[in-house]
Amino acid sequence: MDCSKLNDIIKSSKNILIISHINPDGDTLGSMCGLANAIKDNFKKHCDTLLISNLPKIYEFLPLVKESKNIESIDKSREYDLVINVDVAAIDRICDAQILFEKAKSTVNIDHHKTNNGYADLNIIEPDASSTGEIIYRIMKKLGWEISYDTAVCLYTAILTDTGSFRFDNTSPKALEAASVLVGLGVKPSEIYKYCYESNPKSLVLLQAYCVEKAVFSEDNKIVYTTVYKKDIEKFNAGEDCTEGLTEKLRAITTTEVAFVVKQSGHNISKVSMRSKGLDVAAVCAAFGGGGHTLAAGCVVKSSVEETVRKILDEVNKKMY
Ligand code: AMP
Ligand code: MN
Ligand code: MN
Repeated sequence: MDCSKLNDIIKSSKNILIISHINPDGDTLGSMCGLANAIKDNFKKHCDTLLISNLPKIYEFLPLVKESKNIESIDKSREYDLVINVDVAAIDRICDAQILFEKAKSTVNIDHHKTNNGYADLNIIEPDASSTGEIIYRIMKKLGWEISYDTAVCLYTAILTDTGSFRFDNTSPKALEAASVLVGLGVKPSEIYKYCYESNPKSLVLLQAYCVEKAVFSEDNKIVYTTVYKKDIEKFNAGEDCTEGLTEKLRAITTTEVAFVVKQSGHNISKVSMRSKGLDVAAVCAAFGGGGHTLAAGCVVKSSVEETVRKILDEVNKKMY
């Protein structure tokens, strides 16, 4: 990992912006806030942080996250000295903030998605890392930065959520080592667990139960999918981020080899979330302009929910058999 230039880039930059990806998860938010907290402590510099979609309520506890700007209100004519994308697999995942990225004097891309094509001036891409949070932890160690309690909370949250509470196959010795050091700095695992996994509104749990109930199984139960329509979200009065963890519930079935959720996101726009136990779903999603990891990936498809289901099933069948 070559991150030696990062100290100099940060030192010579007055205005810094850190950007998280659309539909943010614990990794992109924990990485963004961890980096902002660490730059504040180690360089005595303020960084702007940017949200592309609404902040999921469960992540409101992250230090500095509430000070983030949002995509509607940020001044898009601004020329930042430095823009850093964290956990952003492809440049279109920051939507309209691409204009800020393009105008910046320097750009940095810190990520662990194997489909990331290295779209910045400085690219720190480590597909073997469990999470972008783990990469940022390694950068801080390598560059000799102090890690405060607040920074540790952010990075721990990033690693915890992207490893599915240290359950997925990206739970490596290095991920656990980072988590161990962060806990040593005062992070309380039970406290962060409560924020991330035991703070769901009733509406989300009931909507997900409904979506699991209507799941469709095929190929001897090897393939399972469900759909989430706007009308479902309205019926349960749930938020837009109501599908977090839903695909994993379908993968949790013994017979499942591939699970996916198709969510209606707009008129003829569907968001797909895929999980597998072996099949490369990043390749499936890449066929639709998306990407991700071997066992967890996503894409946005410009077609109705039903049509998208058909397209994904076709692609899965092509890759599986
Ligand atoms: P999700 O199902 O939304 O939790 O996403 C699963 C994984 O795939 C995450 O690591 C995402 O960052 C990644 N991912 C989701 N959608 C896309 C996309 N359109 N392009 C690239 N990567 C994606
Ligand atoms: Mn992410
Ligand atoms: Mn990630």
